[in-house]
Amino acid sequence: MPTSNSKLPFDIVVVGAGPAGSAAAITAAKAGFSVALVDKASFPRDKLCGGLFTGRSRQNMTRIFNVDVYNELFLECSKMRFRAGDRIISEVLDAPIMWLTMRRNFDEFLFQTALGMGVNNFTGSAALEVNQNENCLQLKDGSSLSYKVLIGCDGVNSFVAKSLFGSSFDPTKIGFGLEVEVPIEAEKSPEQTVEVDFSAADWGYGWSFPKHKSTTIGLGGINVENPKMKQRLAEFLTRYPNSTDLKVKGQYLPFGDFRKSPGKANILLAGDAAGLVDPVTGEGIALAMHSGELAALAASDAIKSNAPQKALRRYKKALRPTHQSLRQAKLWRLMMFPKPMRSVFQNALANGSSLQNMYLDILAGKAEYKNIKSALISRAPKAVFRMIRSKLGV
Ligand SMILES: Cc1cc2nc3c(=O)[nH]c(=O)nc-3n(C[C@H](O)[C@H](O)[C@H](O)COP(=O)(O)OP(=O)(O)OC[C@H]3O[C@@H](n4cnc5c(N)ncnc54)[C@H](O)[C@@H]3O)c2cc1C
Repeated sequence: MPTSNSKLPFDIVVVGAGPAGSAAAITAAKAGFSVALVDKASFPRDKLCGGLFTGRSRQNMTRIFNVDVYNELFLECSKMRFRAGDRIISEVLDAPIMWLTMRRNFDEFLFQTALGMGVNNFTGSAALEVNQNENCLQLKDGSSLSYKVLIGCDGVNSFVAKSLFGSSFDPTKIGFGLEVEVPIEAEKSPEQTVEVDFSAADWGYGWSFPKHKSTTIGLGGINVENPKMKQRLAEFLTRYPNSTDLKVKGQYLPFGDFRKSPGKANILLAGDAAGLVDPVTGEGIALAMHSGELAALAASDAIKSNAPQKALRRYKKALRPTHQSLRQAKLWRLMMFPKPMRSVFQNALANGSSLQNMYLDILAGKAEYKNIKSALISRAPKAVFRMIRSKLGV
């Protein structure tokens, strides 16, 4: 791509080519707009992630990208195990199908699919400066891209969010995750069980997610609640063979810390940049794709109406059900993670229980959090109710 000092004009410029950015870019391109997709990395690039790809992710991907899961990229899995340390809480052999993918390949796949729809490739150079007065984005390589609407999909450490609000996220609410990638010996096949351990971290959980050639093992939780996360990971890994002495990688995870107003006027934020991660499961891929799509649709409508500055108003309206669902998930989190609730929650998650079925249905994209509250409410001790009410101010 050219590297001149003159401005290259686009209808929509998208910063970040993860699932949110590729979804935004392809949606805008399908609507007939000129789109630039910017990323500081050249693709394929790695992204720290468990790679659990749920039914809701699949629904969003097929709708937005018009592609489906396939064997080389996705490991299919329908076994799920819930644990609390050494205790197995429950084991489901016929859970709704989930898929597991390596983000390096998955993100490349979405990115190439977006380019195939005519999106202009500006990867390999970081976005350096947003000039809001001139509607112009400056890249590190010297390029200058002008936009009618800018969509920031640049992840949890979002530079676009920082340009608008002074910080990418609230350090008192943000989550953090640590992972190792354990190679599977050549002659062995993956275990094909998705395992979640609710005692591996506070206000979070640990996971073992199989892939075709490796297993991703890690844990994550609200950062301030887990001051000794590295030590917890070391303890957690002793359960899994060949998982010690591997490179540990960490990243912030904005689960539960979404921005009520994700942008300003004609600058929108989507995916992790807008804090759109499920506060219970830590799942972010599905919401990233969905919010990228909604941001692009809002941008397209605003541009068509000759009012790009009203893009945020349209986007906020479109995001309302997502925000509502995240609020419900936050409430649900209050019923499963505080110390007095842990055993109540874990017992309620036993084999064949309605809670377990609903949890799996949420991952499958068949249920919403509002369906699930009552399953726990009937079991909650009064003290916990009081705490929830005081936190919610009701
Ligand atoms: C440890 C961990 C485990 C997780 N496990 C899962 C899981 O199993 N399943 C799940 O659904 N979700 C999981 N998530 C969450 C998921 O990874 C994110 O929610 C998802 O990647 C968000 O997508 P995104 O497109 O918003 O951002 P990202 O995927 O982070 O993409 C952002 C892009 O922006 C680019 N960028 C950043 N700054 C700039 C800049 N200045 N200029 C240009 N480009 C820039 C980056 O290079 C990157 O390509 C996990 C997260 C963590 C941290």
